[in-house]
Amino acid sequence: MAGRHDDHHRELTLLAIALAACGARPPTAAPPSEPPLRPIPNPARDIVDTRLAFDVTARTGSATITFAASAQPGATLEIGDLAIDRVDRVFAAASGMLDLALPASREPVAVTIAFRYQPHEHFTGASAAGFTMLWPYHCGNLFPCHSRPADGTTFSAVALTGVPDGKVAVYPDRIAADAPAYQLGWSIDAYSELALGTTAAGTEVTIAYRPGELAAARAGGAHLVAVFDWLEKTLGRYRFGGKVGAVSVAWPAGAFGGMEHHPRWHVAAGALARELTHAHEAAHGWFGDGIRIAYWEDFVLSEGTASYLAGRALDVVAPAVGAAAWQSYAEELAAIPGDRPVWPQSRGAIDIVADGLFQDAPYIRGAFFLRAVALKVGAAALDRALATFYAARAGMAATMRELLATIATVTGYDPSACADTWLRAATTPRPGACL
Ligand SMILES: [Zn+2]
Repeated sequence: MAGRHDDHHRELTLLAIALAACGARPPTAAPPSEPPLRPIPNPARDIVDTRLAFDVTARTGSATITFAASAQPGATLEIGDLAIDRVDRVFAAASGMLDLALPASREPVAVTIAFRYQPHEHFTGASAAGFTMLWPYHCGNLFPCHSRPADGTTFSAVALTGVPDGKVAVYPDRIAADAPAYQLGWSIDAYSELALGTTAAGTEVTIAYRPGELAAARAGGAHLVAVFDWLEKTLGRYRFGGKVGAVSVAWPAGAFGGMEHHPRWHVAAGALARELTHAHEAAHGWFGDGIRIAYWEDFVLSEGTASYLAGRALDVVAPAVGAAAWQSYAEELAAIPGDRPVWPQSRGAIDIVADGLFQDAPYIRGAFFLRAVALKVGAAALDRALATFYAARAGMAATMRELLATIATVTGYDPSACADTWLRAATTPRPGACL
């Protein structure tokens, strides 16, 4: 809600009230369950489902947002720089926020919004190059949303029309389990599909690649079915559908790595041949997406755990690749200044980007913390702790502190002191610290 211009907001509120008043009954005649006549800010009212339809040529969209039951009336959505064309409720839109006249209710309440969106470069929305990137808090530039990662939503329908001839849009037509808003992504390009195989649980694993990228896709996907199978068998049932895999995306030069757009995660074209990147993004299906982070400061619960699990899975299914992964982590670790935040404690005040948390430290120090625990209690015991945590928290938001408590309960080893060394200390530890 920061940055809202209250004066402008109030003007639009009054305008919406005036428009709504034309057909409204007097407030005294309305029973208590009737919608309020004016928009009421209520950013705490959670979203439970999002249905989206886009025309990617016209850059128009329709969103049906279902809000949770709430004892308090009203609701608020982030709308970035969307142009709002229609809302089927009384609303007020100003400064990137949309407030709604919704009643308090014991049942979920749906609102439908028609809008236009703008192209966004620098990873802040839908790029003119055909891909989207909403992480960390840019979902409002593409559809009305809540960007806070704790507020998961299902996407019961996603549809794209207006895809140019000769191109393919790769995206999930639904995400049936709760996801952070930034999990949704699409990419539109001249895609072909490399079918890699099926896991024991029946999950189909593929890579969508562009012309000239088949060899890179084969290299990057060499052990991806085995990695995904290990994740399913070790951590528990995958929640985001029966067909998964990587999509090679035309990120701008210099952007490397991937993004956890499950079930079709994005991998920068330059990283397509890198098995570690695929394993990392796959692991986010359990940590980061499957279990959401409660606050941005719990970033290490997503990235440290995904980095650890990528190395751990590759250790099991392709030991030489796993060893190379840990070697590359060790090289990155040696280059991390000790003062970089890994696991700050701000109760939601930290800005993931501006405060420097989106750097290597949470990934690499987080991975080595969990590896230190694995070396202490046995990797299989830590696997069981991670599986226990996933069984308890999948579909919910969780904190790193809660993971530590589960590790202590399941393994009998309290990792708090080791976590202080790896995640809090102002000196970057060396591999093996706290053994
Ligand atoms: Zn990641």
